Amino acid sequence: MEPNKEINFDSLTENVGKFHFGETTVLIPAMNRIAAHVIAATFRGFDVHAKVLETYKGLDLGKKYTSGKECYPCQITLGDILYFIEREKERLGNAFNPEAYIYFLPESDGPCRFGLYNKYQRIVLDSFPELSKLKITSLTTRDGYSLAGMLEEDKVLDFQKTGYFSLVVADIMDRLVWRIRPYEKETGMADDFIERSMHIMEDTFETRGPKKEFRKILNKLEEIIEEGKTIIDPSIPPKPLIGIVGEIFLRMHVGANQDLIRVLERHGAEVVNASLAEWVNYVSYDGLRRAKMKLRLALKQMRFGEIKFYLKNMIRFGADLLYKELRQKQIYKRVGSHIDVAKDHKISHLENVLKEDDLFSFDVGTEACISIAAIMECARGGFNGIVNVYPFTCMPGTTTSAVVKPLVNELGVPYLDAPYDSSIQPGREAAIRTFMYQAHQHYRRNGREENH
Ligand code: SF4
Repeated sequence: MEPNKEINFDSLTENVGKFHFGETTVLIPAMNRIAAHVIAATFRGFDVHAKVLETYKGLDLGKKYTSGKECYPCQITLGDILYFIEREKERLGNAFNPEAYIYFLPESDGPCRFGLYNKYQRIVLDSFPELSKLKITSLTTRDGYSLAGMLEEDKVLDFQKTGYFSLVVADIMDRLVWRIRPYEKETGMADDFIERSMHIMEDTFETRGPKKEFRKILNKLEEIIEEGKTIIDPSIPPKPLIGIVGEIFLRMHVGANQDLIRVLERHGAEVVNASLAEWVNYVSYDGLRRAKMKLRLALKQMRFGEIKFYLKNMIRFGADLLYKELRQKQIYKRVGSHIDVAKDHKISHLENVLKEDDLFSFDVGTEACISIAAIMECARGGFNGIVNVYPFTCMPGTTTSAVVKPLVNELGVPYLDAPYDSSIQPGREAAIRTFMYQAHQHYRRNGREENH
């Protein structure tokens, strides 16, 4: 692949956006393994050819075509798509057709660089003339990750509902493995079980998702949970409870965070990572919040055209948030009658946490606002330690760190900043070991939240 130096800026609008999937294969990045697989299965149920990209195998390619100033998740996802293309070209030879694929890369609005990944990756793909026809489809936070225009109109709403359902189920399956693995009877049992269960859930979503047979999907989830519980050795006493918050990609991607959860578990932790649904709910909450603010301004200035527009937006985001929160609550309630996995806070509650002590503002946006509030909730809510995970130089990650450090210090809760790039930091293991020593001390002195 010889790079072409000319940049075609028209391509940033023509080849990045919302495209109808049609007969193309939709390529899904594996930020979170379980979620990527169940979402791909849900797509397949809706007659979309969806495929999860292998991840972290093309990191060298990602680094080769970035300058080093981009965020680490951008390097990883770029490497994943370039690696896939290389393999696909080898497999298909002259039959390789870039128009047969759509690369699915959501973006986020806001003052950090996530909104630019897809544009940057477009420029890189365009530097290989044969790849200029491989389109990037981009869900955006601006319309609450709507899939309108990508699927047939009559399928959009059903997909959005089932897709959200699959995300919450994926969160619960992750939480299930973090709940049972520290107490497993034999090493490896929990990992084998969750891998098998993920495939069962893929089949379940592929067949039951399009018919919105949510009750039957939950029945299957309950069966999985009951099986998972048998892996727990009841003679192993509770362990210190560690909360992970931070940048979503790094929190979720085990390659990128160098398998942080497993390392913490090796040092005696039980871990709860912030969920995927938290971010998706935040996107709807933020859309509603901004629509309200703009409506108030339009009313003050009597701009009637805008009043109607923002009112419509408010209703749309409000209904979306209400649906998601009710659905999430319903799923966690069913699961809660089988096992004590951690629940999610409502986003409005997290905003109130910030407001109460005037710690930060949702007006600033980015994940910093939910991370800061979540850290305070963990610190006051019986956790024995908190880890803030983020890509090296991540703006919201470093902001979070600057705000919370003195606060958790005051509360006497062990706290660790865990910035990652692809290098192996020599002091990382020692830092985690020291942190876990403090977490054990905290647990001995204060106990922990029992039914987290
Ligand atoms: S959240 Fe951090 S890693 Fe993600 S785009 Fe923003 S600055 Fe980069």
